[in-house]
Order: sequence, then C-alpha cells, then structure tokens
Amino acid sequence: MHTINNLVAGRSMALMVQSMLHQRRRGSFLQASIGGGHVCNYASEGVAGSVATAERMLPPQPKRSLVPESPPPSPQNLFLLHDFVYNSKRLVVLTGAGASTECGIPDYRSPHGAYSSGFKPITHQDFVSSEGSRRRYWARSYAGWRRFIGAQPGPTYNSLAKLEARGWVMGMITQNVDRLHYRAGSNPIELHGTTHHVICLDCGDLSDRYVFQDRVKALNPEWARAVEVLEKGEVGSDASFGMQQRPDGDLEIDDKFLQKENFNIPACQRCSGVLKPDVVFFGDNVPKARVDSCLAMIHGADSLLVVGSSLMTMSAFRLVRAALEKGAPVAIVNIGPTRADDIATLKIEAQSGEILPRVLDLGSFNIPSS
Ligand SMILES: [Zn+2]
Repeated sequence: MHTINNLVAGRSMALMVQSMLHQRRRGSFLQASIGGGHVCNYASEGVAGSVATAERMLPPQPKRSLVPESPPPSPQNLFLLHDFVYNSKRLVVLTGAGASTECGIPDYRSPHGAYSSGFKPITHQDFVSSEGSRRRYWARSYAGWRRFIGAQPGPTYNSLAKLEARGWVMGMITQNVDRLHYRAGSNPIELHGTTHHVICLDCGDLSDRYVFQDRVKALNPEWARAVEVLEKGEVGSDASFGMQQRPDGDLEIDDKFLQKENFNIPACQRCSGVLKPDVVFFGDNVPKARVDSCLAMIHGADSLLVVGSSLMTMSAFRLVRAALEKGAPVAIVNIGPTRADDIATLKIEAQSGEILPRVLDLGSFNIPSS
C-alpha cells in the first residue's frame, strides 16, 4: 500500500473534509442533472443519423440515476489514490462501464445495470447465425442511436483527460464502446471496439457508422418515420412501431412490428457481406493485434489504475494479471466487487466520478508531471 504523501498530509484534515463535503454537494448536483439519462448499452444502442442528425442530438432524459448508491469517498481513500497516481511514472489507466453510467449509459452488472431488468445482450453467435437476431439488433440500434450519441463525457472522463494532458497518465485502455473518452480529449485503445465503426464479417472492411445510419434510413423510410414519432414522445403507439424505452434506457420493439415491417440491413458496399458494429460481442474474442497492443502498453507501464470496471471479462482481467506479473502495482476504483479484489495492490470502493475530481483538486496535478 502507498503511504500518504507528505505534501498532502500536511494540509489540515478539517479543511480537506470541508472541501470534500462541498464538492460532494456539487457532484450530486451534477449527477442529478446529467445522470440517469437514456441511452442504450453497447449490445443494443442505436444507429441512426447523418452528421446533420448528430447536430440535432437529443439530450439525455432525466430518469432515475444509473449510478450505484455510494457514500462520499473517505479522506483516506482520497489520499491513497492521490499517492498512487502521484508516485507512478508510467501510469496506464483501464476504464470500464462505471465511467459511463454517470453519463447516462447503463452498465450491465451494477445494481441498476441492464441485467437487473432482465436484459440479455446479443451474443456473437446469435448475430452471426441468425438474420432475425441481426434485424432485431439493428432495428433497436437504429432507433436508440441519437440518444446514445447524445451522452456527454462526465467527471471521470474529464478528470482522466486532464491527468493525461498534464503527463500523469502514459496511456489508456477502455472497455467502453461509446467514444466518450474521445469527446473528453483522450485517445485510448478501445479493447472491445466501438459502435462508431461498422465492420464487414466477410471482407473485414471498416466503415463509418454515420454513413451506415444514412443507408439504414434510405432503405427503411417507414422505420425512420417511426423513430421520429418515438422521439416526439409517442412511445408504444403503432405509429412508433410499439417501441418503448425501458427504465435502464434500453429499447424494446414489439416483435410483431419486426415481423410485419421488414427491417432491411444494408450490406457491405465492397463485397455485399454481413455488417456488424465493430464491437466485441459476448462470445467473441478481442482481435489478437489489439490484445498485443494492450499488453505492450501494460509491459511499458510501472502501474495500472482500473476505473469503473468489475473486470468480469477475461480480456480486461488478464491485463491486470499481466501488470501484476511484471511487478506493477494495480489500484482499482470501483463500486462493488471486482474479479481482481484479492490480487489488487489497492482497492478503493468509490464512485470514480466523485473521487477523481477531488484527487485533481488536491493540487499536485496542476503542474505537468516531470
Ligand atoms: Zn465486405
């Protein structure tokens, strides 16, 4: 475990606690105003728009918070995390779904996550073997896209981007497919791919999701109209093809509409093959070259910070193992248990969006890392 840095410990504890309580109130307000918005998770988010559409992005809808309940971070945890980052010279950060819940994108495994309401993500095998599954996936994805891309980076992403810009973070890897790191100004390796690209399962051609969205719209004008109706609030009506938003932000589409109103999926423009979002679905493997890039980054690191991940996917867990095997300490900031709790150097039970901005406010990170 790291010891408390003298610079920080020298400050009055009473002042620190007072400052934290103040920020806690500020953080709560932020969460209340941006958290809990719609949006779908990556196995079912949506497609849908041209650049013109993106300019009319819909704001997240105020709903119940997707962020798990947690007490404010303790002063001790604040100092421990500060020291972990401060004492690292080549820090790599690995982020997971917890970083996006505060932006209105539900995760799977937390108490309010998509699994809690019975959601079952599509598997790679389902997608590849069943045209019906692909139609259902892409129809929901099309309908939910505008809200999905309406999410804005929250305090976790913004804090990490600041640390990175000041030289305190050497590299980042994310399990998230929503591109929120990019919007905050970072450029991480996307371990599980991204919904912003579409890949051909036959020839491997990568194309832009926004272009794909326009092609979906052109092929399915009646679905495009139904989505317009949905976005005006007429949920569940025949005019919106019975589409409903569930509490976790996922979209339901009545199967009778999928059977009645054929949903046409655009084919690859190069080989007419089957198109899939460039996302690693459950049951699929991360491409080897990407795994190798991540491992190379870990091998060059002297410490690893995991943020907002339960590390339940093997592709993420093995990066933690690789760091520990080379002797790099691993700190985890997450609400709830993780797969690496027993082997991590430091586990901090805290909401990343609450503790990271406070760590930045301690002052040491305002100057560039030497
Ligand atoms: Zn192709």
